[in-house]
Amino acid sequence: MLNSSLGQWLDAQADHLDCGDCDAEPVLARLAAADALGLGVDKGLRGDAGGVVEALEGIAEVAGHSLTAAFVFWGQRAFIEYLLQSDNAALRERLLPDLLAGRLAGATGLSNAMKYLSGIEALGLEAESHAQGWRLKGRLPWVTNLRKSGFVVAAAIDLPGRGPFVAALPGELPGLERSEDLALLGLQSSNTAALDIRDASLGREWLLAEDARRYLPQVRPAFLGLQCGMSIGLARRALREVEAHLGGSRSVLRAERAALVDDLRQAGKRLEEGLVAGRFGTRPADLFGLRIRLAEIVAAAVQLELQASGGKAYLQAHGGGFARRWRESAFVPVVTPSLVQLRTELARQAGEDAA
Ligand SMILES: Cc1cc2nc3c(=O)[nH]c(=O)nc-3n(C[C@H](O)[C@H](O)[C@H](O)COP(=O)(O)OP(=O)(O)OC[C@H]3O[C@@H](n4cnc5c(N)ncnc54)[C@H](O)[C@@H]3O)c2cc1C
Repeated sequence: MLNSSLGQWLDAQADHLDCGDCDAEPVLARLAAADALGLGVDKGLRGDAGGVVEALEGIAEVAGHSLTAAFVFWGQRAFIEYLLQSDNAALRERLLPDLLAGRLAGATGLSNAMKYLSGIEALGLEAESHAQGWRLKGRLPWVTNLRKSGFVVAAAIDLPGRGPFVAALPGELPGLERSEDLALLGLQSSNTAALDIRDASLGREWLLAEDARRYLPQVRPAFLGLQCGMSIGLARRALREVEAHLGGSRSVLRAERAALVDDLRQAGKRLEEGLVAGRFGTRPADLFGLRIRLAEIVAAAVQLELQASGGKAYLQAHGGGFARRWRESAFVPVVTPSLVQLRTELARQAGEDAA
């Protein structure tokens, strides 16, 4: 789907993007040049048409080369989705061209909000109203795609007495401070940092949604569905690597690989059908179950790649790609909604259904 020069560039950069010994800056420009950022965006809004499935496939394809680039892609595309689903047409028109062209980085600080939605934690940002907007304070401990040359970040903010809203915060907002990049296990060139917000004044023109409790469940299928593209792409790549090793003494792994390929195909199909039919808005548990299943498939696929490669995977001279995928796969269970959050949520719902 995406052009081969993007694939070649990602293959050449994948280890560097993971270890952080390269500049994270060009990733968005490369994705934009390959027309990836406009996937699933209406032509009238300068996108490349198609639907959410095309965007999901684009993220999966990039994840097959580099999970760091795929996560940056997801952050950018998720932010674009927040604008597409916002009532604030003026903000959409103002930001979309730069986001689609990769000139501006869009970041998603909504993990905390998604946890808030499930009753797991309180919102980390709080607002006080003033005549033109709000005064903000608080902290977002993890945000990716905070590009040093400019970003805008989506966050849910508590407004005591009125309930939470969702806004876009520009990186240059006085009072907003980006930390140094966090030192990570992998995905190091993802511009992941913390944001501290002290007495920052935000104008109403940055509002994405007045009612976070209505808007967050509405954007969650795209947020989570697109994120599943990362698992799909990583699992597909590991299973392709297994296939390349299947001759001779490794043929005993053939049936296990075939079963995983089939599971992956089924889960991907159910995900795409649910997204197209808009089913996950009213049945989030189905989407949660798919996210968990895909994470299990990633873990099994990378484990099978290790068995298929054998000792070679352990040699630095040969096993670089495997070692990276191993580290990349460790991200899948912890990215919000983490498997623990999803299992907690499903257990809670099962308890409610039984009561
Ligand atoms: C590479 C990477 C990129 C991420 N990018 C984003 C993003 O773009 N947007 C976004 O909203 N979220 C992002 N996150 C956050 C992620 O989605 C989860 O919210 C995060 O991993 C914590 O989830 P959890 O619920 O498992 O942890 P929790 O259950 O909340 O925490 C588990 C334990 O870890 C501790 N802990 C958690 N975070 C930290 C921290 N930063 N410092 C010290 N201790 C900590 C907690 O105190 C607790 O003891 C990113 C995470 C990673 C690893």
